[in-house]
Amino acid sequence: MKQSENLDNCSFCHKHKDAVVKLIVGEDVAICNECVELCQTLLVDEHILTPLAHTISLDPRLIQKHLDQYVIGQDRAKMVLAVAIANHYKRIGNQDKNTEIEKVNILMLGPTGSGKTLLARSVARYLDVPFVIADATSLTEAGYVGDDVESLISRLYAASGNDIEKTQRGIVFVDEIDKVSRRSESQSITRDVSGEGVQQALLKLVEGTKCRITPTGGRKHPNGETVEIDTTNILFIAGGAFVGLDNIVKSRIRGTSIGFQAEVSSDRAGDLDQVTPDDLVKFGMIPEFVGRFPSWVALNELALKDLISILTEIKHSYVDQYKWLFVQDSIKLEFAQSALEKVAENTLKNKTGARGLHSELERVLLPHMFNLARYKEQGIDQVKITDDLVNIPIELKAPNEQIARKIGNSR
Ligand code: ADP
Repeated sequence: MKQSENLDNCSFCHKHKDAVVKLIVGEDVAICNECVELCQTLLVDEHILTPLAHTISLDPRLIQKHLDQYVIGQDRAKMVLAVAIANHYKRIGNQDKNTEIEKVNILMLGPTGSGKTLLARSVARYLDVPFVIADATSLTEAGYVGDDVESLISRLYAASGNDIEKTQRGIVFVDEIDKVSRRSESQSITRDVSGEGVQQALLKLVEGTKCRITPTGGRKHPNGETVEIDTTNILFIAGGAFVGLDNIVKSRIRGTSIGFQAEVSSDRAGDLDQVTPDDLVKFGMIPEFVGRFPSWVALNELALKDLISILTEIKHSYVDQYKWLFVQDSIKLEFAQSALEKVAENTLKNKTGARGLHSELERVLLPHMFNLARYKEQGIDQVKITDDLVNIPIELKAPNEQIARKIGNSR
C-alpha cells in the first residue's frame, strides 16, 4: 500500500477520514479526533494533567531530571523537592471531598551558595508557575516599618501578570529564614522587630488564609481596589544556612546515644540530615512554624568537583555565559581544564559556595573583556584561559606583551 493511502486512515484506530470529524496528518502518521480524546482521558487518569494551566508530568523522576539540567549534586534535595512538588500539585487537583490532604511546605537547610534558591527557581520554571524570592530579614510584623508578609503575595500577584488563579498556585521562596529565629533576636541590636514576630506573621499565610492585597507595580488593578488571594495552595519554600544547628544536632546525638550506637551515630553527628523538629525549635524556630514545614532537607556544601562541573556542565553555565559575551566580539573563549580547576579551588577557599564562581570568573576575565576590541585589532580570534592566567594580576588597561603573546600562542 502506498503511504498516502495509509494517511487517509487514523494510524491508531484505522478509521477512514470520512468516518471521523477530524484527521490530523503528520509526515508518516495520522491521528483522528477520537483517538486524541481517548489519549487525553488516559493522561487525566494518570495524573499527568495537573491543576496547572498546562499539561505537565508530575512524575518525581521527571522533575528530578529537569533539576539535573540546572543543579549539580544535591541529589537528596532534588528527590525530596520532586516528591513534595508532585504531591502538592496532586493535592491541589484533589476533587475527593472525603480526603483532605494537608499542605506540605518545604524547608531547605544548607550553606550559602549551595543551590537552595536555584532549586526552588528551577522547580518553578518546570511547573511554569509564578515565583518570588524574598529575604526573611526584610519582612516585619504588621505595624512596623518594612515589608509586611502580605507583600510576598502582592509580588507573586505581580509575577503572575495580575492573574488571581495563577497567583494562587504559585511558589514563594523565603530565604534567610534562620535569621528570624528567636536567637537572632537576642543577637541583634539593630532590629526593631523580633524574629519570632516575623515567624508568627508568616504562619497564617503559610498555612492558608484569604488575604487582601493592594496590587503593586505594573498595570494597576481597575478601580484601584484591593484583590483577595487565597494562599491555601501557594507553596512556600523556606531556606537558610542555619549556622550552629549542626552543634545542636551533635550534642543531642552524643547526649542521648550510648555504647556502640553512640560511636556509630557520632560519625554523622552534626549532619543536618539528622535534624529533628526539636533541634529546629532549640535553634529558635517557633514550634508552630516548624510544624508547617513538614518536609525538610539538608543541602551539602559543594565539593571541588561540583564547583568544576557547575562552571561548564549545566544549562546556562557561567562559562557558556561568558563565551556568549566574547562571541559578540567574534572572539572564541576557551578554558583549559586546569584553569577551571584553579578557578574552583580559589572559590572553595573563599567559602562563598558556587556564587563565588561568578565573581572569580569575572575577576579572571575582566581584563580580557576590557581588551576584546584590541585583541580583534591584533588579529587574535581566540582567548584560551590557561591555569597560569588565572592567578596573575593583569593590568586593567591593556595586557602586556607577554600576555598578548600567550593568548595569541594558545590558539
Ligand atoms: P543559596 O540559595 O543556597 O544561597 P543559590 O541557589 O542562590 O544559593 O546559588 C547561587 C548561584 O550559585 C546560583 O545562581 C547558581 O549559579 C550557583 N549554584 C549554587 N549551587 C549550585 C548547584 N548545586 N548547581 C549549580 N549551580 C549552583
